[in-house]
Amino acid sequence: MPDEERFFRQMRVSGIGPEGQAALSKSRVLVVGCGALGSVLASFIVRAGVGTVHLVDDDWVELSNLYRQILFDQEDALQRRDKALVVASKLSLVHPFVTVKAHRIRLLDDNIDALVGGVDVVVDGTDNFETRYRINDTCVRLGIPWVYGGVLGMTGMSMTVVPGQTPCLRCVFPSVAGAQDGPTPEREGVFGPVVGVVASLQAAEALKLLMGHPPSAGLARVDLMEGSLSRLDLGGRRPDCSCGQSS
Ligand SMILES: [Zn+2]
Repeated sequence: MPDEERFFRQMRVSGIGPEGQAALSKSRVLVVGCGALGSVLASFIVRAGVGTVHLVDDDWVELSNLYRQILFDQEDALQRRDKALVVASKLSLVHPFVTVKAHRIRLLDDNIDALVGGVDVVVDGTDNFETRYRINDTCVRLGIPWVYGGVLGMTGMSMTVVPGQTPCLRCVFPSVAGAQDGPTPEREGVFGPVVGVVASLQAAEALKLLMGHPPSAGLARVDLMEGSLSRLDLGGRRPDCSCGQSS
């Protein structure tokens, strides 16, 4: 049974209720990347009462992370602490019945199946398309939904991929080369608040899927200079995409 006192305001939300809370408590989520997006994703997913949360990151905390990676402090940076371990140790204190497991590794072809295969939803807190394509292809092959998120300057994007049902990342961005030719967070920087908006959209999508709700359609686009949030209709899946062959 869900914990009444901890979650009564969450369970009061239309579309959640005790049934949704019970579903979350039995769910397993993989958060790939524990930086800016990952800090917010992991926070909301653990705090919502998801039963098991796996965190993957092989990076350590630096001073330049602190303005936007909201779970870290100066001491974490000065000690060069591992991001996944810091996030796990901080969020493990929230609900003792939620299992938060840190994996201090980079997600690669030889370890991704074991991690993705054991969860219900994967959320993308990475900052590169190479890893996103790896997540996409594995999730499509294993039939596991995942939620893409990306931030750049004051803008960001998010999209939910349900294999066999919605366009996948390769339907929208067919090649790594095309996706990486443009500006990158390394060159353009990232505005702190846009991280919160995009990761919150992603966390909402993940929690909705776990409670049995359909994904939001299309590609969400955020522009905080304009103060706007819009959705781009993606149409259907691209007929020649590899995701069509595995469903
Ligand atoms: Zn596709």
